[in-house]
Amino acid sequence: MAAIEMRNIVKEYGDGFKAVNDVSLDIADGEFMILVGPSGCGKSTLLRMIVGLEDITSGDMVIGGNRVNEKAPRDRNLSMVFQNYALYPHLTVFENIAFPLRLKKSITEDEVRSRVKAAAGMLELDEHLDRKPANLSGGQRQRVAMGRAIVREVDAFLFDEPLSNLDAKLRGQMRTEISRMQRRLGTTTVYVTHDQTEAMTLGDRVAVLRRGFLQQVASPRELYEQP
Ligand code: ADP
Ligand code: ADP
Repeated sequence: MAAIEMRNIVKEYGDGFKAVNDVSLDIADGEFMILVGPSGCGKSTLLRMIVGLEDITSGDMVIGGNRVNEKAPRDRNLSMVFQNYALYPHLTVFENIAFPLRLKKSITEDEVRSRVKAAAGMLELDEHLDRKPANLSGGQRQRVAMGRAIVREVDAFLFDEPLSNLDAKLRGQMRTEISRMQRRLGTTTVYVTHDQTEAMTLGDRVAVLRRGFLQQVASPRELYEQP
């Protein structure tokens, strides 16, 4: 069974424009899937429909075997990392990472502490847990956003151009880290980018979108070797 199944997904905006047009795609359990294509091709819209931030006009979205079309984002067991990080400025690094755990009443403070420590350790944030986002570098903010995503056990991680606000050197570093982290956790991942290097180095497979249509799905090697 696929972790995420998309069946004939359409997103039509008010004026009849189809931002996503009849997309069918299966993402396997543990797979790292890239969504790539030029600006405006529908990548973010598709990602937002997976996570539930955008209504689906027609088609079926199935996550972990359950149709989720009408489920609110909080009722889908997913973590999304946004381009602008979306950190809470008044909360410390610790509390930013802990945030998704605080929404679950059943979890003890000891458990919160140990999970946040584990996530922070993996992202080299141990030394910065008491700081506020304003006092962090861009790369550190990115790590906090990732910490918040991995602190819970979820069915999938969704990334929306997470590295586009970083400089080239840091982008390279974070690319390596994201790849390492995903392999270590083995969590199904959908990653939106318009960056060719990210598309060719991070993914198990690459889904190429053009004007709302799914044009091609292939491994980076297959894409590279094609004439
Ligand atoms: P990408 O992420 O590939 O850059 P998007 O998914 O953001 O593309 O957008 C796909 C298309 O849908 C674009 O043409 C965009 O202008 C359009 N679009 C996105 N959001 C809306 C909206 N709320 N209303 C109307 N059109 C939209
Ligand atoms: P991204 O580049 O991350 O896809 P955009 O700058 O395209 O983001 O879009 C930012 C926001 O504006 C999104 O919430 C999107 O839905 C909305 N949007 C994009 N295009 C349009 C449009 N043509 N009409 C109305 N809203 C739009």
